[in-house]
Amino acid sequence: MKDLMNFLDRSTVCFYTVKNLETLLKENGFEELSLREPFHLEEGGKYYVSLGASLYAFVLPASLSTVKAPYFRMIGAHTDSPCLRIKPDAEIVQNGYVKLNAEIYGGPIYSTWLDRPLSLAGRVTLKSDNVFEPRVRYIDFKRPVLTIPNLAIHMNRDVNNGVALNAQVDMLPVCSMTSDDSAIEGHYLKSQIAEQLSVSGETVAADEILDYDLFTYPTEKAELVGFNEEFLSSPRLDDLSMLYSAARALVNAVPSTGVNVLAAFNHEEIGSRSRTGAGSDMFLYVLEKIAASLGHDHEEFISLLLDSFLISADVAHAIHPAHPEKHDPVLKTKLGGGPVIKLSAGQRYITESEDYSVYEQICRKAGVPVQKFTNRSDAVGGSTIGPITAGHLPCRIVDMGIPILAMHSARELMAVRDFDYTVKSFETFYNE
Ligand code: ZN
Repeated sequence: MKDLMNFLDRSTVCFYTVKNLETLLKENGFEELSLREPFHLEEGGKYYVSLGASLYAFVLPASLSTVKAPYFRMIGAHTDSPCLRIKPDAEIVQNGYVKLNAEIYGGPIYSTWLDRPLSLAGRVTLKSDNVFEPRVRYIDFKRPVLTIPNLAIHMNRDVNNGVALNAQVDMLPVCSMTSDDSAIEGHYLKSQIAEQLSVSGETVAADEILDYDLFTYPTEKAELVGFNEEFLSSPRLDDLSMLYSAARALVNAVPSTGVNVLAAFNHEEIGSRSRTGAGSDMFLYVLEKIAASLGHDHEEFISLLLDSFLISADVAHAIHPAHPEKHDPVLKTKLGGGPVIKLSAGQRYITESEDYSVYEQICRKAGVPVQKFTNRSDAVGGSTIGPITAGHLPCRIVDMGIPILAMHSARELMAVRDFDYTVKSFETFYNE
């Protein structure tokens, strides 16, 4: 559990999630490959390809002669979480406050982001000689530099009856105070970025900074909660709890009859349609490159894909202590009750019984309890990477996840037990 909590604390935005995955993989003997060069693969080899905000890792069996279907045993999860994204030229100076203009990334519960110490992390691009290759730096301020204050109840008497928060008015973080408005506008954030970059030993002038992808995150750490430490409360359980479970299982498992694959996609929270998201052919290219370097032509690759299996791993809803009526009346998924298979008649989750019963049997074999989730028949739920990947890969897929509470809050809640159950089920899948 401590290692999951560490991963959650350090993986503040997608870029750092991928960096931390890379570290874990390298420590366990994985070798980095470039998509631009031919793969030279060896039996028993462990490899990964990183695209900065997404990552694909795989392990070959000790002997390829023993390989049988499912050929690729894949687990997919996502690297991003709901937050605020800072806009260009972000400074807004009003009434002595310096605020940062921001837009909403994904679907956070707005109110949970108020009155918290927040930090900023992401990617910065710097001027370069070659216009097509701006210099890229990753940045994490690692300390509370922002906050979004609530309006006092005395000025908002209805606040406890539910209050509407406007993304452009109420959700802009405050980052400083000033007595001279003109001294701030247009360059304050860039000068802070330049200063932060110099902390890591590089001298960067503010006017060298072209653009940035900067996201907010709560600086409070993951914590165990409950008299018996039954719960884990943390930012970004969606979907880092699944991603880390899959990475742990990939590292621990020793494949004998298939190629084990982990796909860490970006941009799930905003629909997955991007180069690094599940809605692109990038994953398909990586798999075809693996197959090609193992001697399979395109036609054989299609057959291998038909005989492959993907676990789409994204957190699920547990029944809420105060609002059980929001749940399906029969399928009451519980915290600590084991991983959850997600079903939806509208295919917002993959629903073929032939496919999801595979994962059910894996859990049985692993000695892990398993639950099933559907939305109430009169409610519309979320979706995830399963159906989106299905549009690109003709393999069999199941949608599943650890049950959590408060999905998309700045802090979410899961049961400690479900982490062990999930890793065990993933290891069984990879080893089977
Ligand atoms: Zn998710």
